[in-house]
Amino acid sequence: MSLNSNLEKLSNACGVTGREDQVRNLMIQLMTLYADEIQVDKLENVIAIKKGKAGSPKIMLAAHMDEVGLMVKTITKEGFIQFSKMGGIDDRILPAQKVTIHTKKGTYPGIIGSKPPHIQKEEERKKIITHDELFIDIGAENKEDAVNFGVAIGDPIAFDVKYVKLGKDAVMGKAFDNRAGCITMVETLKLLEQTDCTVCAVGTVQEEVGLRGAAAAAFGVDPDLALSIDVTIAGDVPGVREFDTTVKMGKGPALTISDSGLITHPKVLRWLLDTAEEEKIPFQLESGLLGSTDAARISITRQGIPCGTVSIPTRYIHSPVGMLSLKDIENSAKLTAAAIQRITKHF
Ligand SMILES: [Zn+2]
Repeated sequence: MSLNSNLEKLSNACGVTGREDQVRNLMIQLMTLYADEIQVDKLENVIAIKKGKAGSPKIMLAAHMDEVGLMVKTITKEGFIQFSKMGGIDDRILPAQKVTIHTKKGTYPGIIGSKPPHIQKEEERKKIITHDELFIDIGAENKEDAVNFGVAIGDPIAFDVKYVKLGKDAVMGKAFDNRAGCITMVETLKLLEQTDCTVCAVGTVQEEVGLRGAAAAAFGVDPDLALSIDVTIAGDVPGVREFDTTVKMGKGPALTISDSGLITHPKVLRWLLDTAEEEKIPFQLESGLLGSTDAARISITRQGIPCGTVSIPTRYIHSPVGMLSLKDIENSAKLTAAAIQRITKHF
């Protein structure tokens, strides 16, 4: 299967934080082809192990499987659904979004509704409508009707967006944060074939609510070093200052120097930079970014684990739909695999 069709499957799957099953099943299918062993730990992180030579380093790759989304909080007696947010979502992008509720009876569509602008007061129109004032309309006549559809408190709600290919390399879809990282990890395993070191490729859970899965997985795997594979903000759109980010879509993987949770270990950074330069793989550097990745938690596990990140530049992350270049995924996988192949020279 091609990179494009595998990313399409991963993007269209639902993996709202804490309910990553669909994505995990796909990751198991995809990683089984290139791994010696697959494990699922108690928090339901999935770990694909590729065994290396005894005595050589063990590297952990981490790509989170969860996506930001919503969760059913209450059902009103009129049959509307009120929701909580899972992960960081800007309230301003919620009104009028189509969503899919994943119920025990299957999926159910709805739309996020709010009071129409025509009947809002002047001062109401100026302020942001927060998520607790919004609701999901599923066309139910009342609460019993909604319950009969299968909707229950706690059901995950994902944005209703289908993956599309645009032009030669650009694609648009849901949950690229972090299905882009998931597919990059799969592509990395595919490129690896024989390696000296042991590779544990981990699809982590619950990243968007505080890097929780990665914390448990890193303790269990106990690697010598780790890389998180995630997305980063592509700033090549109108209104973004160069000071905020210089990372551009299509210009290669972004290597983090520092973000709000991690200062990339100098040896890890050197190793990645040498690999990129020697293998002539395009890359971009970023520092001082707000936000973080699984690497922040992994790096402070046990007595400390040297960590770095390889990030895929992605536009409009944490919104219902993102955009990225498939070329960046290919180059991110190439860089990660090439770095792993030369690991013993550096560590
Ligand atoms: Zn992410």
